[in-house]
Amino acid sequence: MPKELLLQVSPEIAANESLLKDHLSKQIKVSPKEIQHVSILKRSIDARQKAIKINLKVLIYLKGEPFQENKLELPKYKDVSSAQEVIVVGAGPAGLFAALQLIELGLKPIVLERGKDVRGRRRDLKAINREHIVNEDSNYCFGEGGAGTYSDGKLYTRSKKRGDVTRILELLVAFGASEDILVEAHPHIGTNKLPKIIEDIRNKIIEFGGQVLFDTRVTDILVKNNEVEGIVTQNGDKIHANKLILATGHSARDIFELLDKKKILIEAKPFALGVRAEHPQELIDSIQYSCDFRGEHLPPAPYSIVKQVNGRGMYSFCMCPGGVIAPCATSPGEVVTNGWSPSKRDQSTANSGIVVELKLEDFKPFAKFGALAGMEFQKSIEQKAWHLAGQTQKVPAQRMIDFTQNKVSADIPKTSYVPGTTSVELGQVFPGFLSQIMRQGFQEFGKSMRGYLTNEAILHAPESRTSSPVRIPRDPMTLEHLQIKGLYPCGEGAGYAGGIISAAIDGEKCALMIAESLK
Ligand code: FAD
Repeated sequence: MPKELLLQVSPEIAANESLLKDHLSKQIKVSPKEIQHVSILKRSIDARQKAIKINLKVLIYLKGEPFQENKLELPKYKDVSSAQEVIVVGAGPAGLFAALQLIELGLKPIVLERGKDVRGRRRDLKAINREHIVNEDSNYCFGEGGAGTYSDGKLYTRSKKRGDVTRILELLVAFGASEDILVEAHPHIGTNKLPKIIEDIRNKIIEFGGQVLFDTRVTDILVKNNEVEGIVTQNGDKIHANKLILATGHSARDIFELLDKKKILIEAKPFALGVRAEHPQELIDSIQYSCDFRGEHLPPAPYSIVKQVNGRGMYSFCMCPGGVIAPCATSPGEVVTNGWSPSKRDQSTANSGIVVELKLEDFKPFAKFGALAGMEFQKSIEQKAWHLAGQTQKVPAQRMIDFTQNKVSADIPKTSYVPGTTSVELGQVFPGFLSQIMRQGFQEFGKSMRGYLTNEAILHAPESRTSSPVRIPRDPMTLEHLQIKGLYPCGEGAGYAGGIISAAIDGEKCALMIAESLK
């Protein structure tokens, strides 16, 4: 029987197979030659002490013990080309994992995506970064793979159901992600690796008889007697089916407007909003690892921080170590920030959304928009930021201490945000109560993380697409919309997920419920 062991080792030992074998051989008192193989089951960093340790959970196989490399395989999909059709709107993680699950269950997904495939999408990302041109169907939020394709690809979630999370991680590995994501406490994939995985998922859907249509924006949902009948695309084409998974993400404002216009029940939902802060990565390393130099065996340090300020949570969101700030607007006339990292997280800057939780009462000035009040609040801030920064994809920016002191920064150094920045007093971008909380909050952050509050840190505004400003209500048991039979609101846009993994889990759940309803 292989021996399971929990241990703490130095980063150097954890990074070197032969040093690790030597170390383990001493622990279990055998010669290193006796160790046939060491499987790492879990890995995390313990940075609480000055001498940083790596926590490992390992399985040690001695010579003669049966050991087999465990290669993860995809489920045995069957051809569904002539099976019952289900429309899936949106090829983000929710839509793609719904489609895979439908195939596994013997149903045929027809995936409709307004954006382009991952390759075509790249040109539009270049255009927004270099020429300030926003394509409303193809950008950092829209296109194959959804909002997370060109991201840090962080794969952790607050989901309590580990089984569901493991299943998604294992599927990603079977589609080509590194097995490390099964082991790391905080796994991530990286912008350079995600697109290929997504392309392979799409090819598998097509190989087994599903359809994936790009450049296909859904502009209407056909409903008769409160039952779904199909959809209409931007060209007027109709596709009929009486099961529809709506997984259009948190930025599909036209879909929220459509539902509202058709009097299909939606609700305003609180979300969080703030800025994206960028520090030199070396500074974050020195704070988190309490050292001057990270060394070669530790990864660029992440951070996670939360404070209560004036009764509201202010917290770091989607932190990207060694990452870049991206222009994530989905329409001309607005600016939006978010962040991404390559798999090695080897950029010199660390960025994170720093956001404040909003309440429904904050949307009161937009009450006339009813369920769309939160969305209009969000839009108004993105548009104000666009005006203040010069009506391009440049964003308003300010040094962190200057912001806390209400002082326009004399200069803004070059940051990782490619379209550029304009020095603006960020208090002008946000409602007074929000600026007030952030000013106080950054000072609190500085007390917990010594060195964090610095004028070397540049704040970019706004970070506004943290989650959906709308919920599309559904029956908690059947996952069907409360009024419309056959409509399955799904993923982040509908208010049931908050990241790649939870969106994928929700996609699978909706597919399962559809199969259940057809029994
Ligand atoms: P989405 O991914 O938003 O997908 C919705 C899809 O629907 C889009 O492809 C869109 O084009 C399509 N669509 C919209 N309207 C229509 C229509 N009318 N017709 C047809 N198609 C339509 N999460 C993490 O967990 N880890 C990260 O590291 C991370 N980093 C991120 C970095 C960036 C830059 C961004 C923008 C997001 C990041 N996120 C991250 C968030 C994550 O991407 C989302 O939580 C996740 O993608 C939500 O999945 P979804 O399938 O519900 O929706």
